[in-house]
Amino acid sequence: MLITTDVTKAVKAIASGHLCAIPTETVYGLGADATNPNAISRVFVAKGRPTDHPLIVHVANVTAAYEWVSELPEWATVLTHAVWPGPLTIVAKRTALATDQITGGQETVAVRVPKHPLTLDLLNQLNVLGIIGLVAPSANTFGHVSPTNANHVEHDLGEYLSAHEDLILDGGQCAVGLESTIVLATGDQPIILRPGSLTASGIEEITGVKVITNNNESPRVSGSLASHYAPNAKVIIVDEAELANLEVIKNAGLIALAAIPTLRYTYRIGSPRTSVEFARELYSTLRNADDLDLKVVYVVPPPGSGLAQAILDRINRAAN
Ligand code: AMP
Ligand code: MG
Repeated sequence: MLITTDVTKAVKAIASGHLCAIPTETVYGLGADATNPNAISRVFVAKGRPTDHPLIVHVANVTAAYEWVSELPEWATVLTHAVWPGPLTIVAKRTALATDQITGGQETVAVRVPKHPLTLDLLNQLNVLGIIGLVAPSANTFGHVSPTNANHVEHDLGEYLSAHEDLILDGGQCAVGLESTIVLATGDQPIILRPGSLTASGIEEITGVKVITNNNESPRVSGSLASHYAPNAKVIIVDEAELANLEVIKNAGLIALAAIPTLRYTYRIGSPRTSVEFARELYSTLRNADDLDLKVVYVVPPPGSGLAQAILDRINRAAN
């Protein structure tokens, strides 16, 4: 069976060099032993991912994270202790464990402790076996919408994973639904490389240090490609006022906060009540649009800063 809820089976699969998709609070990752070059190679093949795109190493706890990181500013130590397990990835100077295959040849490595009971159990059991990290990019085909449940993973990668006796560990729906906030932790100030549910103001509150956003000289972040997270349907961003004047298109869908009325001639495919629900449901809704064979999806982004900005970032990429 491809899909399982049995962590022991997942441990055995990873330890014998197989891949195992893992549930996290953000999105599902395609996990492989981060110390096994053959297994890592297969992650790139399964996803169709360019091999110079660096991978995030997922670990059981702060101690395991520091095996991969050689140096960390004081603010980052405070931040990781406060947020992990949680939706934060830090990019920091690497140790020798973090090979070029993982970092895309960069001197930095990306690490995080995911918050999901099954995956934390898996990571802890692997630790006991001496496997102190899993590389785990999002478990979708490269460029497609990230998976937020086990069926999404099966849809994109099921054929490949079944053929190779790999697994999908089913931990239900992802609680956050957007990828982690990536923070560069090599200098005096945190630099956000990819926005997420952990916001700049949240990081400032925890660390007492001012956050820098939108750094142009940031290291390569594959989730930062202009076009990413894209469904087949064309995604068009509109505001509430523009909605009323849209031309009538056949097979058009609409995603907007529940308070915004449905436009005639559109299928209402998403009506989240809050930004939190918006983030949680966005990727499933975009996948539904393709299942319904919609040609266009109008999206009215939620207003505000913080999480709303992270949502807008993903909708922009889906629209490109
Ligand atoms: P995903 O492919 O969805 O798992 O996204 C993982 C993200 O972490 C990608 O955007 C990677 O490029 C980013 N990442 C991993 N390692 C590094 C690194 N050393 N420097 C900068 N970004 C990284
Ligand atoms: Mg991805």
